[in-house]
Amino acid sequence: MFIETDVLVVGAGPAGSSAAKHAALNGAEVLMVEKKSEIGSPKRCAEGVSKDGLIKLGIEPSSRWVTSEIDGVRLVSPGGIDVWLTQDTVKLPEMGYVVERKVFDKFMAMDAARAGADIMIKTLVKGLEKRDDHVMVKAERMGKEIEIKAEIVIGADGPESRVGRWGGLKTAVKPKYMESGAQFEMVGVQMENPNALEFYFGSVAPGGYAWIFPKGDDIANVGLAVISTLTEKSAYEHLLDFVKTCPATKNATAVELNIGGDPVGGIIKKISTDRILIVGDAAGMVNPLTGGGIISGMQGGLIAGEIAAAAVKEGDTSEKRLSMYDKRCEKEIGDSFNKYMKSREYLESLSDRELDLIAKAFNETEFERISTAELLKMLVKVSPKALLKLGKLF
Ligand SMILES: Cc1cc2nc3c(=O)[nH]c(=O)nc-3n(C[C@H](O)[C@H](O)[C@H](O)COP(=O)(O)OP(=O)(O)OC[C@H]3O[C@@H](n4cnc5c(N)ncnc54)[C@H](O)[C@@H]3O)c2cc1C
Repeated sequence: MFIETDVLVVGAGPAGSSAAKHAALNGAEVLMVEKKSEIGSPKRCAEGVSKDGLIKLGIEPSSRWVTSEIDGVRLVSPGGIDVWLTQDTVKLPEMGYVVERKVFDKFMAMDAARAGADIMIKTLVKGLEKRDDHVMVKAERMGKEIEIKAEIVIGADGPESRVGRWGGLKTAVKPKYMESGAQFEMVGVQMENPNALEFYFGSVAPGGYAWIFPKGDDIANVGLAVISTLTEKSAYEHLLDFVKTCPATKNATAVELNIGGDPVGGIIKKISTDRILIVGDAAGMVNPLTGGGIISGMQGGLIAGEIAAAAVKEGDTSEKRLSMYDKRCEKEIGDSFNKYMKSREYLESLSDRELDLIAKAFNETEFERISTAELLKMLVKVSPKALLKLGKLF
């Protein structure tokens, strides 16, 4: 089979669907291919998304995929001191809804189709070759070989992306920036507030944190992410220890296991070249502090779709024309990431004892409204070296 299209999007995760939607909305002929037979399944995600993020993308929350609305956050220190934050005291970037990714991802793909994009599921891209004015892509669908000729290829093929590499981009992520995640979806979880996200810090998850994200009733995603270079144990082994000891989960039962990588080193240096763009996890568009990549990947998808469609319309798909993509992503997504990266490094540098002291001081401080200045004051009181570590963060 031979197919021709203006824009080929590889991977139908949130970033790919957003790219396909916006390329189609801007007048390009778009084909999105996905290797799995069901878009969105299995999930590799704790399923938290921010309200603001969805609003910015113009996406109305739907009862089809919202499982719970979040009104607070519980932060738990290694010694079990918990700090409660509520919507009216603090603005957290990844707070808003816990979604059902299996439905959300499909819904986003449907949005792309409604905007005019074509979708082929069960289609695995196996390689590509860049020619002078187009890209020839080899794929396999239900055991049959396909060739796709595209003006531009958008690689939205997730954390194990190969499209960028095939296209000549350096996409390798250093081990110290690759989080390994392991998560159970569990039933019988006893949460103190079933509308709050819970985060557990310290040696429970070296280099990352553990979480409990409620999905309604007694169901929750219970997971953690670690940096493999900082621990002898696998993420899965850490998770088994965590669910056994955490009061909320010790009587809970797992109904799903999710394992996956999460690149937290920030946006890759170069994310476009002649006729190729990469987006979402493939391009490192993951918040380095929270590990959240749904919203930022979709923002990247929006930018990629707009730029790809405009480049095709102008008949200029060169690296020079597409480099505008790198610039816009750096400005609209990367800027905030730099700050989150510093916060991440700071958090990683704290011992279990320091984390306990901070949690204690937090509970003893009266905040009218949590501001970065007040937080900073409190951190410096606990650990004067905090100021040094945080540098010019705020
Ligand atoms: C344990 C864990 C928890 C997380 N929790 C959160 C969270 O709570 N909130 C949040 O915002 N983010 C979270 N993330 C990150 C989030 O899951 C990703 O950032 C997000 O899925 C990235 O979207 P994407 O579209 O770039 O890639 P993906 O969602 O990975 O989609 C890529 C798609 O490409 C397809 N594909 C790959 N190769 C090919 C090929 N050769 N041919 C065809 N198709 C291909 C794949 O099948 C897949 O469907 C978490 C990640 C992990 C690992």
